[in-house]
Amino acid sequence: MQESYTDALNNPIFKIISDAAEELSVDCYVIGGFVRDYFLKRNIPKDIDVVVIGSGIKLAEKVASKLEGKPQVSVFKNFGTAMIKSDGIELEFVGARKESYQRDSRKPIVEDGTLEDDQKRRDFTINALALSLNKSNYGALLDPFGGIADLESKIIKTPLEPGITYSDDPLRMMRAIRFATQLDFQIALPSLQAITENKDRLKIVSNERILDELHKIMLCKKPSLGFSLLHKTELLELILPELTALQGIEEIEGQKHKDNFWHTLEVVDNISEATDDLWLRWAALLHDIGKAPTKRFHKKIGWTFHGHEFVGSKMVYKLFKRLRMPLNEKMKFVQKMVLMSSRPIILSEDYVTDSAVRRLVFDAGDNVEDLMTLCEADITTKNPKKQRKYHQNFKIVRQKIEEVEARDHVRNFQPPISGEEIMETFSLKPSKEIGIIKEAIKEAILEGEIPNEYKAAQDFMYLKGAELGLQSTK
Ligand code: ATP
Ligand code: MG
Repeated sequence: MQESYTDALNNPIFKIISDAAEELSVDCYVIGGFVRDYFLKRNIPKDIDVVVIGSGIKLAEKVASKLEGKPQVSVFKNFGTAMIKSDGIELEFVGARKESYQRDSRKPIVEDGTLEDDQKRRDFTINALALSLNKSNYGALLDPFGGIADLESKIIKTPLEPGITYSDDPLRMMRAIRFATQLDFQIALPSLQAITENKDRLKIVSNERILDELHKIMLCKKPSLGFSLLHKTELLELILPELTALQGIEEIEGQKHKDNFWHTLEVVDNISEATDDLWLRWAALLHDIGKAPTKRFHKKIGWTFHGHEFVGSKMVYKLFKRLRMPLNEKMKFVQKMVLMSSRPIILSEDYVTDSAVRRLVFDAGDNVEDLMTLCEADITTKNPKKQRKYHQNFKIVRQKIEEVEARDHVRNFQPPISGEEIMETFSLKPSKEIGIIKEAIKEAILEGEIPNEYKAAQDFMYLKGAELGLQSTK
């Protein structure tokens, strides 16, 4: 007996589709993400896929004619699909199809097929579930590949032999890992092996699609699940070799450093508890990439990574460029975070002076909050005493940032004395003295020698001018 799930089809839109299909004498089914998420009791998605045994475009047009306001139908002739937006829902109609692939392209050769042909071309058993919209068996579940059982055992499996599924469309390798991360599912072992075997086929997938999936993984609750799968299947090496280069622990003369790859994944998980900001998560992912090229061993002091923040921030640019990510202010933000990533740590280890905090705020500007969030996420020590101490110290740093900012306003520092005023005061032509005086005023403010106020800065200017042998002509 077929089980029926009419309650999944509460939205009146399904009745309308059902009526339209009957008028055209075609069968149709809701399929894919909507059905999967219904059984998972996840938020029901706003995009609904309908498969038609016949023309998806004709059914879409019929449905649109029955909907209030007669929404427009967007037709994608090449794909044989049609889309309607109605009431905040995106309905996609596609004719059931059979697909066959060629070696060098993700684009299949397509012919008309049955419902089961269409379910076979789907990526995973959990994405191949269909619910009938036909009058004869409305709400019936069609699950030829055991998708419900796989939902229950939380497993990602392909309907066909996994080697074929992944080789046909290698984007599915990324999707498998993305779904595993989003849903906290396991990938079936044969699938995992097939992904590793087919990893080099990722090269026929566009950067854009790879990044799309990577970003979805990064926006999950626990991105490390996805990154460790990418690592295990060796896909990560192809996408982000800078990251896999951090893996491993070296030991010389009994001295070890930590494994910066696994440390990084912990940092990404930590920051994901504090922020949903994709770019701050990118900063966490890349904050240590400069450690691979800067690693050195010194007999006396052990392992060092001198200047890794600077080297890392330069690597960010190359990495963004290679992945064809936008080289815009988002990238600059990630670079800045990487460059400054160790600054607050020094403050958290020692007694914090006001001037150190002022310098931090001055350099970080509006990103000082984000920088603190990154540094707190960077605490991965397993020593509870140290962990408590570092967190406590960062709390103090945060407090001082607020105090110092309320008093000195150096966050978006504007010099209290302009270059023009210095020129006028000492009757100077453009010259290096002006820069020296300006810099000295800024330094005095950051060091706390004078407050960030006009009168104090003016007095300091006279003093500095006299030191340089300049005469005030005012
Ligand atoms: P979400 O919308 O949450 O990403 P989804 O399962 O709805 O999940 P979509 O990308 O919207 O994913 O695709 C809709 C359906 O189309 C999937 O459920 C799956 O059945 C099928 N599908 C999508 N991409 C592929 C692919 N690359 N290979 C095979 N089937 C796919
Ligand atoms: Mg979807």
